[in-house]
Amino acid sequence: MIPARADRETALEIARASYRGISLYNPDRSPARIDLSDNTNTWGVAPAVEAALREASIATVTRYPNLYAAALKDALGGYLGVGADRIVTGCGSDDVLDSAIRAFAEPGDVIALPDPSFAAIGIFAQMNALRPAVVPLTASLDLDAETMLATDARIIYICSPNNPTGGSMSRAAVERVVERARGVVIIDEAYAEFAGVDFLDLLERSDRVLISRTMSKAFGLAGLRVGYAAGAPALVAEVEKSRGPYKVNALAERAALAALGPGLSWAREHVTQAVENRERLADELRGRGLEPLPSAANFVCVPVADADARGKRMRAHGVAVRPFEGMPAIGPLAATNGSALRISVGPWEMIEAALDALDATAEGTP
Ligand SMILES: *Cc1c(COP(=O)(O)O)cnc(C)c1O
Repeated sequence: MIPARADRETALEIARASYRGISLYNPDRSPARIDLSDNTNTWGVAPAVEAALREASIATVTRYPNLYAAALKDALGGYLGVGADRIVTGCGSDDVLDSAIRAFAEPGDVIALPDPSFAAIGIFAQMNALRPAVVPLTASLDLDAETMLATDARIIYICSPNNPTGGSMSRAAVERVVERARGVVIIDEAYAEFAGVDFLDLLERSDRVLISRTMSKAFGLAGLRVGYAAGAPALVAEVEKSRGPYKVNALAERAALAALGPGLSWAREHVTQAVENRERLADELRGRGLEPLPSAANFVCVPVADADARGKRMRAHGVAVRPFEGMPAIGPLAATNGSALRISVGPWEMIEAALDALDATAEGTP
């Protein structure tokens, strides 16, 4: 019999060594009246998506979904203007990114990561026993192409627009990395819809570029977990192998097909509104003497001192935003020693509530 004393020490002994330093993802999710903390679509989803979910038959949930989401790959290929053989899907783009890391690197290999950037990648690297080479962004918050290349990494991860800073990486830096990299270059374009520019054309120039996208942000499907990536057919085939079958569930696939079909104009309209409100929010912040970072995404990152405490106080006023501390104190992040708030963009009433909470928690207010 297994002794009942399965305490933490014992569990650590039997767990995979590379997992020891990993804890569960645990951002502050205490309920808030207004939630602008996770960059999801706070307008909702297209009516066509709601209809597709409501009209789904019970057979949709009692049968297995399509093995590798063939219909969804067709629709996504159409959306991006590439062949379906260049698309791989997954249970959120997190799943696609994790699968790609596993597909292209052996334990012990180096993965180059910009800093600050999407924190999940560091965790996926650790879970797959890779060695992260963390490379700070430049003072203008651009990719430091030469230092990334000098790591000689098996995988180089780039995020553009970058989460949490919000800006797009310069074309010159990204092209340099793609031209010179020894291994696979992953470009995470979770926020490409809000940027108006993307790096899809690089798929024509290199068969070692993988561009990941998600339906969690512009399309409002975060709860259904649909992500995907585009790359050369041989490249995406390896990711698909690593990912395994049945990863996009049947309801999610239906919703995603509706979002990309009859729901597409709804998504486009709300991207336009998000971009308008993003610029208006940045103006409001500047009017308060703050210096928001330039954003090409559906959020604005604004350096403030002691972001954790400020975020908590804003939550007490009913508004959740995402605080960041401990980012490299580079360029515009130097003045606050790497501390900032990331505010998601949504309907203007929500942003007004965030601005009110910001005012109510400013220094000198009780
Ligand atoms: C939100 C986000 C993702 C994850 O999206 P899912 O498809 O919901 O897993 C990936 N990359 C970046 C940069 C993100 O901000």
